[in-house]
Amino acid sequence: MKLTLLGGASEVGSLSAHVEEGGLRLLFDCGLTPSKPPKYPMRPPAVDLAFLSHAHIDHSGMIPWLCANFGTDVVATPPTIVVGTMLLEDSVKVSSLEGYPAPYDKGDVKVLKKHFQEAGFGDSLDIGNIEVGLHPAGHIPGAAMFSVKASRDLLITGDINTLDSHLVNGAAPVKCDILVIESTYSGRDHPPRSETERHFLNKTKEVVERGGLAIVPAFAVGRTQEMMMTLMNAGLNIVLDGMGWAVNRHYMNMPGYLRAPERLRDAMSQTRVIRNPGERRALAKEAEVVITTSGMVDGGPVLDFISEKKNDRNSAVLLTGYQVEGTNGRMLMESGELMLGKEKTKIQCELGFYDFSAHADHNELIKFTKRCEPEEVVLCHGENRMALADDLREDGFKVHVPKEGQVMEL
Ligand SMILES: [Zn+2]
Repeated sequence: MKLTLLGGASEVGSLSAHVEEGGLRLLFDCGLTPSKPPKYPMRPPAVDLAFLSHAHIDHSGMIPWLCANFGTDVVATPPTIVVGTMLLEDSVKVSSLEGYPAPYDKGDVKVLKKHFQEAGFGDSLDIGNIEVGLHPAGHIPGAAMFSVKASRDLLITGDINTLDSHLVNGAAPVKCDILVIESTYSGRDHPPRSETERHFLNKTKEVVERGGLAIVPAFAVGRTQEMMMTLMNAGLNIVLDGMGWAVNRHYMNMPGYLRAPERLRDAMSQTRVIRNPGERRALAKEAEVVITTSGMVDGGPVLDFISEKKNDRNSAVLLTGYQVEGTNGRMLMESGELMLGKEKTKIQCELGFYDFSAHADHNELIKFTKRCEPEEVVLCHGENRMALADDLREDGFKVHVPKEGQVMEL
């Protein structure tokens, strides 16, 4: 069996894993990194079938290119198909706004819709002598890990979270010979979620009490819902702007992929939604908390809110997740400055960072690996994989830390 990471080996983003055995070629994810300019994985060859783990662009961003060029069918769960298509359509819009040449267009996303093959958790597909199964990854609703049964058994995690969140249950281990595991949080542990939630809620209330606006940048998919459910019942005037509302509606149509659909419905009933610029002007005046895109502050309505409040020391920008290198959010975290239009601008309002990650941390990755009982571990999707590699080697695992494009014979 040959495994090649075409992207997303040493970086968080652009994930694409190519598996070849007995003349069959499969591709798992084909993402891009939505930095400025965007970064792409190495172009994949034509494959027999592709699999998409979840809707986030760093896993799905190049899937339309694959379909448009090769007519490849793509297997994914229903939430991944519906929400993923929405994010890809948005990404075409964003790249044309930003003026970067896009590797595909709206028409290609339409073509992709015809090539999606729906599969659910527990399903397995036979492709020649290879059997591929789907298992919940605990990252966002519909996020899948793939087990590949061939001459050796592989498990490809995509993005995983092993702990329960408000939105989904944590991933359970799957026994395998070779574990291909994401390592976003290699070398770092999350504080306990209950502590993070308490600090975040206290800070939000403090900002509101002193008359400021709490601006909460969040990805539309996953993080927005998690933040709504964290803030529910706190008695705050919460407004939601951006694509998150459409995602909520899609998720409520597929309640089987949620941990507690009734709680998401409750959170939705406690949140007011901005659907157009007129509503933005009206609702923004009354809002105490605004949850809005983009999560890494690179575009979307969050920039309008920050721009409005940039000199208001009573207001706060409360970041809720990992900020990839090269993004506005990372710059804001490191220097208190960000790009508003073409201008680098110092932000006077308070800045906070809260680790609401939907990725397993260092210790959880080790626990999960042990429970999968693999002979070999391939680390991917990490800027700092050596920390995890060292600890896993100490525990007796054979660990690979491949470069992008390196062909591994397994
Ligand atoms: Zn993800």
